[in-house]
Amino acid sequence: MSGGHVVGRFAPTPSGRMHLGNVFAALIAWLSVRSRDGEMVLRMEDLDTQRTSSDFAETLRSDLCWLGLTWDREQSPQSQRSAFYDGYFEDLRSRGLIYPCYCTRSQLHSVNAPHLADGTYVYPGTCRELTEAQKAALEDEVPVGCVVVQNGKIIARGRNRREKTQCATRHAEMIAVEKACKKVGYWRLYGCTLYVTLEPCPMCAGALAWSQIGRIVYGASDPKRGFSMFSPSLMHPKTEVVSGVLAEECGSLVTEFFRNKRK
Ligand SMILES: [Zn+2]
Ligand SMILES: [Zn+2]
Repeated sequence: MSGGHVVGRFAPTPSGRMHLGNVFAALIAWLSVRSRDGEMVLRMEDLDTQRTSSDFAETLRSDLCWLGLTWDREQSPQSQRSAFYDGYFEDLRSRGLIYPCYCTRSQLHSVNAPHLADGTYVYPGTCRELTEAQKAALEDEVPVGCVVVQNGKIIARGRNRREKTQCATRHAEMIAVEKACKKVGYWRLYGCTLYVTLEPCPMCAGALAWSQIGRIVYGASDPKRGFSMFSPSLMHPKTEVVSGVLAEECGSLVTEFFRNKRK
């Protein structure tokens, strides 16, 4: 809708003939638009390429015409619009306005989910404030998460993605360093601070050293795989390292994860 101009659409899936549900939806949209002197748009919802066909689309068009449910223009089919949606998705992602939600449908509906007068559920924002490490745990990854901060702003986030990618090097810090370099447009991260829940391993310490990052702040120590067990000199000499910040909280995330695993 723009400037009071009403635009409505009917978006059938061309996987068969019109059924009563289709006709009802088309009629409601048509009435709503026509009663307000708006514009009616038809769009074929043809994402399920196995089941949809142009023959069915043609049948739908002729059925709509027969019913008198006319439209003013037909938009390109949904299958040809993914680049368009991807553009918007990327825009939202770059502005930090989207985040993954791990709730099941029933969880969303049970716990105090606010809903509108007409019974429609409103998403309660349960997963909005999850940290990277908490997201990793919910994704069944060893929960390690980090952020890179420059001038008081988070410029990159990372969480362990080893299981998801089935790649041994997808540690939180590797991902965050790559993203930060891309954001800064330079391979050096002098003025940046990395905050990470667990002491970096030698691989990540190496990557961080190559980036010449200004400061590293980590929570829990990792007595088995932490870089300091092997060689504290792995870090770049100019990098300031601060350890033990909220160590208990950060450590308990990992121990709790493994305790649940053993259950
Ligand atoms: Zn959620
Ligand atoms: Zn690592």
